[in-house]
Amino acid sequence: MENYEVIGDIGTGSFGSVTKIRRKTDGKILVWKEIDYGEMNDKEKQQVVTEVNILRELHHPSIVRYYDRIIDKRAAKIFIVMEFCENGDMSHVIRRCKRENDPMPEDLIWKIFMQIVLALYECHKRKEGKILHRDLKPANIFLDANMNVKLGDFGLSRVMGSESVYAHTHVGTPYYMSPEQIVESHYNEKSDIWSLGCLLYEIVALSPPFEATNKPQLETKIRQGSFQRIPRTYSDELQRVISWMLCSEPSQRPDVEELLNLPQVSLRLREKRLREIQASI
Ligand code: ATP
Ligand code: MG
Ligand code: MG
Repeated sequence: MENYEVIGDIGTGSFGSVTKIRRKTDGKILVWKEIDYGEMNDKEKQQVVTEVNILRELHHPSIVRYYDRIIDKRAAKIFIVMEFCENGDMSHVIRRCKRENDPMPEDLIWKIFMQIVLALYECHKRKEGKILHRDLKPANIFLDANMNVKLGDFGLSRVMGSESVYAHTHVGTPYYMSPEQIVESHYNEKSDIWSLGCLLYEIVALSPPFEATNKPQLETKIRQGSFQRIPRTYSDELQRVISWMLCSEPSQRPDVEELLNLPQVSLRLREKRLREIQASI
């Protein structure tokens, strides 16, 4: 704790608050997320520590970097030190687009999508054991100073949520919950893909594909599985990808590899790799 200087509050989520900090050794600006473990049992606490240790090993340009964790035994708190994402998160971008009635251009949408898929690929195809995100939503897609996408808030929901992913979510409705989570409380990487489908839909249409004013009604809609087509100004290809990810049957949804191979994604990926090579010579 004494290695950091607090700059100020950023915001509060369901597990605690996020604070902007400065690392004293080199002045680097970071954030920490404060998690109260006062009500957790020893097993849950150990899980949090284990989970954060895994996250520290995830090094990818499209994933929020974890730097450190500090345990304050007296206050019963864990502080997770991570990269500061200057431009906030996608929930703000979506809200602004909606307010100003200014939808995102399709090219930018594919670029954002490609970066999220790259991040998810890193987790789902990890050699040392796959990591599921479990909480894909606009608020967990961050933007750095160059408007590059960084996936954040990994895995913690499993640890925190123990029996149910959404047990601790008091900030809002589980719009991105997959049908298999409703029916059999089952979560695998295809449930991440479902959430990714909901996320892409919301970036495009500026509202989630399934909406309701209460949870039972929402669950009914999700189980029925029908949603409005995205606005006609967008391509059929985009609509097709969303529908593919939103298949009710998990095995029919694409995996991260198939998503990377989509023409609109692989094209941009090749361009990105080329730019990186050119920048390095
Ligand atoms: P949940 O706890 O369910 O994930 P949430 O995602 O809205 O909800 P937090 O992740 O706790 O909440 O984030 C709280 C606020 O802090 C949000 O406004 C978020 O944009 C901001 N924030 C979180 N992490 C970072 C970060 N690494 N860089 C910059 N801002 C961040
Ligand atoms: Mg979050
Ligand atoms: Mg979160």
